[in-house]
Order: sequence, then structure tokens, then C-alpha cells
Amino acid sequence: MGEIKDECGVFGIYNNEEAPNITYLGLYALQHRGQESCGIASSDNNNIYFHKSLGIVNDVFKENTISQLKGRNAIGHVRYSTEGETLVKNAQPLVADYYYGSISVVHNGNITNSRMLKEELEENGSIFSSTSDTEVVIHLIASSTENLLIGRVIDSLRKLNGAYSFLFLSEKEMIAARDPFGFRPLVMGKLNNSIVFASETCALDLINAEYIRDIKPGEVILVNDDGIKSFYPFRVEKNSNCLFELIYFSRPDSLFNGKSIYKLRIQMGKELAKESAINADIVIPVPDSGVPAALGFSKESGIDFEIGFTRNHYIGRTFIEPKRSIRHFGVKIKLNPVLDVIKGKRVIVVDDSVVRGTTSKKIVDMLKIAGAKETHLRLSSPMVIAPCFYGIDTPVKDELIASKYSEEEMNAVLGANTTKFLSLEGLRRAVGGRDNFCEACFSNIYPQKIYNEVQYDSQLKLFSKEIF
Ligand code: AMP
Repeated sequence: MGEIKDECGVFGIYNNEEAPNITYLGLYALQHRGQESCGIASSDNNNIYFHKSLGIVNDVFKENTISQLKGRNAIGHVRYSTEGETLVKNAQPLVADYYYGSISVVHNGNITNSRMLKEELEENGSIFSSTSDTEVVIHLIASSTENLLIGRVIDSLRKLNGAYSFLFLSEKEMIAARDPFGFRPLVMGKLNNSIVFASETCALDLINAEYIRDIKPGEVILVNDDGIKSFYPFRVEKNSNCLFELIYFSRPDSLFNGKSIYKLRIQMGKELAKESAINADIVIPVPDSGVPAALGFSKESGIDFEIGFTRNHYIGRTFIEPKRSIRHFGVKIKLNPVLDVIKGKRVIVVDDSVVRGTTSKKIVDMLKIAGAKETHLRLSSPMVIAPCFYGIDTPVKDELIASKYSEEEMNAVLGANTTKFLSLEGLRRAVGGRDNFCEACFSNIYPQKIYNEVQYDSQLKLFSKEIF
């Protein structure tokens, strides 16, 4: 079985007459977190209704599909999945009927002991209908001996290892839960009398909801007719918020624990400039991911910021690449250098990260072809030396360029004049310390044991085939 890794987005709203519609809007704001499939489940005290399919929100939901979703409560999901597993059966919400009624669930994260749990459950008679790690939770809930849904959910979550931000919806109740390490984000907001949960605050902004706070690591929140109750049923663990959310994944207009992600990225760029200053004529970003860090670099160094690449925002998930005729077609369909900006200049080009090195290599090549006099590559994250098992899809270690080469060797491979990464200390300074974060991809030190035999397919492969 190819393991599913999800870096996804979740959204939920309780007690609103337009719950499915608002969830649809919330998912729009979270679309950057996953473009493979999406879905919404709603409930009206008696039943759960749902619609999900492969594709982006705009393709999957039409007026007639949304109008079939009834009730004042809804949860939704956008999914970013892996090669080979583009199956509708893995799209979320997962919805199931069991002895106590109906339950639906959306998940952002990755359960690192799901294989073990799945085997145990199958030995006891469970039949799985997807290959998603999330389904394990549904079976655990169904087999729990607790009387109330909140008890069954907590009972089940106690058995999980790894990363999860979950929203559960039954006929009458909604439950939000964040794993004790707090790997993946989850925020709570308010829209008049409605409670809203979302992976990022940009989804609250879109629907004019007020941001209340981030759900705490290890917190489980129950929302029902009686109001809102918060539980802390797990052993306290070290806060391990994902640094990559701040570096790359989250939208810059979102907040992390009340702090602007845009400003944190500016700060990363400033620290990078302090650490790796160099004489140059212009600072340009790799759009869109490198923009705030490039601005920070420019502010700190005093070197002019320019837009050196134009990005085409209208590329679908698949395009047909000509076999031989046009070299670099792949990268050029996404990014094209602005010749007047680049020609004859000493260019500092800033991106957020290097994973396999494919993007950076192409970027450096393009700058050279565009006539840059010098190309200095700057990355606003440290070298990614180890894979993530907590929901960010980085490839197996072998494919990570930084696991094989030093900074200097990498510079030679990528073909730049100089290549410099932000140091881990610099990143810690930018984000305000090390205490709250998971640094595993940069340090190879994981906050929690990984149980699943690791054999992840990589979304990045998919990404590279299509775009680069
Ligand atoms: P690579 O080309 O493999 O070195 O990937 C690095 C580029 O992909 C950078 O421009 C990043 O902005 C972007 N990136 C980093 N992490 C991911 C991820 N998990 N999925 C997709 N793109 C990513």
C-alpha cells in the first residue's frame, strides 16, 4: 500500500443557516493547501449530507451540489495527496454510519502509527474502504465502548501517534482536535452566533469571522446545543508547531498564534541578509513563495527589490509537455524572466526552500540565459536534510539534495555564483525562539517516534513532473 500523506486544509462552522455555503467559501481560502480533491459534509440534527470529488473547489461545487447539503453545521476539506493515490475514495470528508449514528471527519496531518492500528483493527474484523490513514479513526470511534461521542473521540485519539488537526461532525455535534504536539495548525473564530474552525485565519477573513485564537496543542473542543467545552485529555508534550507552515505552506496573510506570517517571512529575509550579505544590483523573489523573504532581504541589505520573474497563475494541474522541441518548457510556462530587469545585473534571487533542487537549478539557468552578470541564490530556510512524517510532503531522504551535498557542493550543482541558506539559529531568531517548533526536517531530530514503515510516495514528484 502506498502510504497517503496529507498536507490539507480543514474548515468547519457550527450553527449557521448558511453553513454549507460558508464552508465552500472557507475552502476557497484554503485552496493553496490542497488541489487534488475537496468535499463538504453537513448535518441537520438528523442526518449527514455530503459531496466530494477530485478537483479544486471551483470545479467540484456548483449551486445544485451545495443546495443538496442541508443543515446548520458543516465541515470541509481540501486535499493535497500523493502520486498514485488520486482516488475519490480517499477524498474527505470521510463519512460513515455505525451503531450510534453517523459520523464525518476531516483531517490535516499524518498518523504515524496508522499501519499498526489498521492491522489490529482488521484482525478484529474492520473492513476498510479507503487507503487513507484517516479512516483508522472512524473505526476506532466505532469500536470504542464510551457512551458519548466526545468520549469515543478522545478514546480513539489517545491511540494515535503523529500529526492531526481533526474536525468531526455528527448529526448534532462538532468536535475539533489538535494533537498534543500541535504539529499542524488549527484556529477558532466566531461569526455572530456561529463557531468556526479553520486550518488558517485567511479562511476566517474571507467570511468576515473574528479570529478568537489558535486551538492549543492537545486540546479537544466540543460544540453542541449546550455551548462550547474545551478538554485537555492527553499527556502534555513539547510544542512542535511546523516551521514549514511559517516558511512556505501557510498563506502570508494568515496569523500564527496571532502573529502575521507575512511579517515572520520578512524577518526570515532580514536574518538571511544579515547572515549572507553580498554586493549586488537587485534582489528578486521566486514568485510567489519567495516574495516576503526577498522584501525582507532588500530592506535589510538596502539593495533594490525588483520583480524579476512573471508568474503565470492559470496553469492547470496537468499540461501536455512537448517531447523535445522546446527546452525548459515546463518551467517557462510557470515563470518567465523579465529581461530588462535581469540583463547585465548582479542578481540576488530569494526562494523559501530547496527540496530536491529542481526548481532552484532551473531558476539559476533561466537567470543566466536572461543575461544576469552574477546569480546569488538565497534561501529563507535552512537546508532540508530529513523527510517530514507529520504532514508536509517532502520526499524520502535520498531525494533531498541537502541530504547529499554541503552548501558549497550544492552551489556547484545548482550553478549559481553563491548559494546560502538561512541558518537554523537565524530561523529561530526570526520566529522568536526554538521552544515551540518542530525542526525535524532541518535537524533530523523527530519529536516523536515514527511507527509506520516509511515508504512515502511524494507529491513533489507530481509537482515536478507537471510544472518543472
Ligand atoms: P524543489 O524544486 O524540489 O527543490 O522544491 C523547492 C520548491 O518547491 C520551492 O520553490 C518551494 O517553494 C516549493 N516547495 C517546498 N516544499 C514544498 C512542498 N511540500 N510541496 C510543493 N512545493 C514545495
